[in-house]
Amino acid sequence: MAIIIRRRSVPVLVGGVAVGGGHPIVVQSMTNTDTADAASTVNQVMALAGAGSELVRVTVNTEEAARAVPRIAETLEKFGVRVPIAGDFHYNGHILLKKYPDCARALAKYRINPGNADIGRKDDGNFRTMIEAAIEYGKPVRIGVNWGSLDQALLTRMMDENAQAAEPLEAREVTFNAIVASALLSAKAAESYGLARNRIILSAKVSGVQDLISVYRKLAAQCDYALHLGLTEAGLGAKGIVATTAALSVLLQEGIGDTIRASLTPAPNGDRTEEVLVSQQVLQSMGLRSFTPQVTACPGCGRTTSTFFQELASRIQTYLRDRMPVWKENHAGVEELKVAVMGCVVNGPGESKHADIGISLPGTFEDPVAPVYVDGRLLKTLRGERIVEEFTAILDDYVARKYAVAETATVTGD
Ligand code: SF4
Repeated sequence: MAIIIRRRSVPVLVGGVAVGGGHPIVVQSMTNTDTADAASTVNQVMALAGAGSELVRVTVNTEEAARAVPRIAETLEKFGVRVPIAGDFHYNGHILLKKYPDCARALAKYRINPGNADIGRKDDGNFRTMIEAAIEYGKPVRIGVNWGSLDQALLTRMMDENAQAAEPLEAREVTFNAIVASALLSAKAAESYGLARNRIILSAKVSGVQDLISVYRKLAAQCDYALHLGLTEAGLGAKGIVATTAALSVLLQEGIGDTIRASLTPAPNGDRTEEVLVSQQVLQSMGLRSFTPQVTACPGCGRTTSTFFQELASRIQTYLRDRMPVWKENHAGVEELKVAVMGCVVNGPGESKHADIGISLPGTFEDPVAPVYVDGRLLKTLRGERIVEEFTAILDDYVARKYAVAETATVTGD
């Protein structure tokens, strides 16, 4: 694991999952089903939890959605899925939490957006109502500021004050300060209404990489609340993944962030669990947590003669993922396994020696053989049509030996 000095934050317990206070950085996700459609939402929560999401957020935007929440929670419980469910509230959360106590009780956490809780009011009565619900039901809250719905009264006031200042800041800087101020003032108000510090998580999301880094640096410097990180509206495909990774990596490297989410836009009919895998990969690539064995594969080049090499790398990656649910149960530490799949002998044996298990496929004009290294030593050389099967058999054997479950010692008194 990487040695990164984490920012000190107050730990918050969310349905049994500890966030902050030096606990492992928590991976979370959000459904995109209509919460009122309990069956679809249960299925997606199960898929997200199955992929490794440790906290799943669902939108609670209507009375139907609020009514569905307890059913969703009960069904998940029945299936043995114990992932905490957070409710995402905007505009009408104060009404829904009051009118549907079973919903308020079933949720593990409330996400409150201070920018749209009290639109049209001169006070923060709706925000306060939600905080009082959190206190009544013993729930933590995430006060989640988003610059797309930033408290406009606060922003206007801070812009006006800035205009009067001897050395005014740029408008963008004032906006960042307003985002941070909104989170901190709301947290302060929540505490003044009786919510304990260890029931508060903050987030302050923007959609630009550099902007997010600036905002979170400011926020982290001014408080010790646990922080939820995420680049909001990160986008589609490679852009969303790269932007999320870039932003989160810088902050995580600075020790900022107690829980993360990758806000990716899935392709039509795409797999929602991708956001979980991306978050896990960010943490694992940085050496902050381990979730699944890692495959080091070379990019291939003119020395690789066919797609066989890419296919093998992909089949091994898929094989590792598919085996993980079983391995995880029986072979503690297997998520640390490192596998190398290389395209030829130029870097193959060298890279293989750095991995736990490595294979170098034959490149153009090389003998049609594939040396396999285990723990840095040549184990055997594979050849023929069944290289993949033989290699996965070696993998299975290695996992069974190296990550064997320790037998429970029998203590006898004599
Ligand atoms: S290991 Fe061989 S095949 Fe892979 S990129 Fe390097 S030279 Fe090319």
